[in-house]
Amino acid sequence: MLIDLTNIANSEEKIIHAEVPYKPEVFSSALGEFPIMGKTPVSLEIRNKGNRKLQIAGKMSFEAVIPCSRCLEDVSVRIDMDFEKSVDMKLSASEKIEELDEQNFIDGYNLDVDKLVYGEILINWPTKVLCKADCKGICSTCGVNLNLQTCDCDITDLDPRMAQIRDIFSKFKEV
Ligand SMILES: [Zn+2]
Ligand SMILES: [Zn+2]
Repeated sequence: MLIDLTNIANSEEKIIHAEVPYKPEVFSSALGEFPIMGKTPVSLEIRNKGNRKLQIAGKMSFEAVIPCSRCLEDVSVRIDMDFEKSVDMKLSASEKIEELDEQNFIDGYNLDVDKLVYGEILINWPTKVLCKADCKGICSTCGVNLNLQTCDCDITDLDPRMAQIRDIFSKFKEV
């Protein structure tokens, strides 16, 4: 969705509010594709701070379905975003892109809300997700989910020296 900024860019001290739906049902990034649900509309406040500078403040909440970092079961994670951007409408298109850290959400005189929100989701994406603090993860030998069942891959069966090495190794492996 695009918001035309022509009017506000030309009216000092003007403020506009907008509630914009965010349509995508899936968030795709280098990490994969994740369903997003329970979205609130994007609540925007755009303020002309004078000298053709705009301040864009926004809020949006949603739930992302992300696999647990240990056992890979889907976890619903609530993400609340609250952001603020400054845009200098005096800059040329290429200067704007540079200033906005390559976040190309201003297209001429239009604010591309989808691109703005996508960039914010990327910034707010959790680096680690656990289904519960003490998630037991997956057995590295047979692959069963150790929260749901036990398996016979008993590490104490191993040579005790091996078990020790494995203990040390699993401390590093912990995500
Ligand atoms: Zn888990
Ligand atoms: Zn096992």
